[in-house]
Amino acid sequence: LGRRINTAFQDLSKVPTVDAASIDQLLKSVCNALIEADVNVKLVANLRSQVKSQVTALLNDKANANWSDAQRRQRVQKAVFDHLVALVDPLHGQTKTDDESGAVVASGNAGPGDIFKPKKGKPNVIMFVGLQGSGKTTSCTKLALYYQKRGFKTGLVCADTFRAGAFDQLKQNASKINVPFYGSYTETDPVAISAAGVASFKQNRFEVIIVDTSGRHKQEQELFDEMREIDAAVTPDLTIMVLDANIGQAAEAQSRAFKEAAGYGAIIVTKLDGHAKGGGAISAVAATKTPIMFIGTGEHAADLEPFRAQPFISKLLGMGDITGLMDKMEEMQMNGGQERQQEMLKKIGEGGVFSIRDWREQLSNIMGMGPLSKIAGMIPGMGQMLSGAGGDDEAAGGKMKRMMFITDAMTAEELDSDGRLFYVPIRSKKPPVADTKEVAIAESSTAAEKSKKKKKPQPKVRMTARARRVARGSGTSVKEVEEFLMQYRMVGKMINRFGGKDGWLKQMQGGA
Ligand code: GDP
Ligand code: MG
Repeated sequence: LGRRINTAFQDLSKVPTVDAASIDQLLKSVCNALIEADVNVKLVANLRSQVKSQVTALLNDKANANWSDAQRRQRVQKAVFDHLVALVDPLHGQTKTDDESGAVVASGNAGPGDIFKPKKGKPNVIMFVGLQGSGKTTSCTKLALYYQKRGFKTGLVCADTFRAGAFDQLKQNASKINVPFYGSYTETDPVAISAAGVASFKQNRFEVIIVDTSGRHKQEQELFDEMREIDAAVTPDLTIMVLDANIGQAAEAQSRAFKEAAGYGAIIVTKLDGHAKGGGAISAVAATKTPIMFIGTGEHAADLEPFRAQPFISKLLGMGDITGLMDKMEEMQMNGGQERQQEMLKKIGEGGVFSIRDWREQLSNIMGMGPLSKIAGMIPGMGQMLSGAGGDDEAAGGKMKRMMFITDAMTAEELDSDGRLFYVPIRSKKPPVADTKEVAIAESSTAAEKSKKKKKPQPKVRMTARARRVARGSGTSVKEVEEFLMQYRMVGKMINRFGGKDGWLKQMQGGA
């Protein structure tokens, strides 16, 4: 999806003038891509007509007659972006304070605390609902850890008597994070268990009591009746619906049905670490006007992140979470590297040339930042690279190290270059010079690499002796050096696109 929307925007940047016809074309491609990502068809149609009239009015306004095409383009992009952000953020427009910093933010859902704040010294009951396999038990555990870390005395109740081994699963999860749990191997009535579990935790002055319920493969009357009964028995302060990011077009119907039966006040979207981009989440929020509180980004208890609309949408649009990454880099304490980092950010922001040395800098920063796959996922192009490393942090870390070795074997000239001096067109005796023809050739080989399914076309470039030297010097292979350069080029291209004066970055930094 991201690629298709990006392509649409790129096409727009190719047309000489931004007029009604080119905007129509852009909106058509964007909307097709959104539908493919399982955003509800009706929502997409609304987006299309609203953005169109909004943009048309702006462009026809005499006051804006002197806008450059770049400015016009920006307006269209911003309108699409803002519209999508508003869709996933039903609190949009309300003044809120940030959970962590306490700072007032202009609008929208700034964090989980905007949706629900447990009261200290009182029992706060949270009930989970959702289909079987959506990630309820996992998310219950994650939320328990989240509140436990924030100083709440937290307990877990297993009211899933439907699925075999449900209690053992919760027990195991809870023990791992040292959270007390309640359940039974013999009691088969989920209502009785949840009532008894909540009562017992209340008696022991627990502050956050999380009730995990059973699911079914489908929405069934039986399940809805059970949810209503548990709801009546435990009278939750908050009910959370868990939604699998892979749900697809079924998101709307499912979220509506659960809303009617369980009246949930928040959503957790799980499995956003996988391939799903979460188009279904947009449909669910729009259909039920219920905010997303957290997203699940992995199978471990710590893989829970507060939901933020802007990064979510920029990721959906394939822009990578550049703002998130910049925040991370800025908050990072780097021994003496801070100034260099500032320079780097400025450079990216101004659309300067992104050299191999800059890429090396990014890689080494990423390595110092903790769970690799999380951070790297925020860089456009990096997710793909890491999935090539087997997806887990250790494999990715090994891969990153080898990339660093490659840069270690480069000369200063090579590091400051854009990498073209490592290629030479085949059937050319000329020394490698940075001409446009050669770039085109190198790019077509990059594109060919990506689509592995296609028959491998004849390579049109080969690596220079420099590349062989770097491979030898770093203890890697020419193939790895080539791969490194390919990834560098990919990231550089995206960064330049987003960071250029026409890019989104400025708008996003300006708090679009
Ligand atoms: P439940 O039936 O709704 O309780 O779902 P579970 O919590 O048992 O989760 C079903 C499967 O999804 C398990 O294999 C979980 O490890 C997995 N899962 C849950 N949340 C996430 C997530 O955010 N990311 C990934 N990758 N897997 C998840
Ligand atoms: Mg479960």
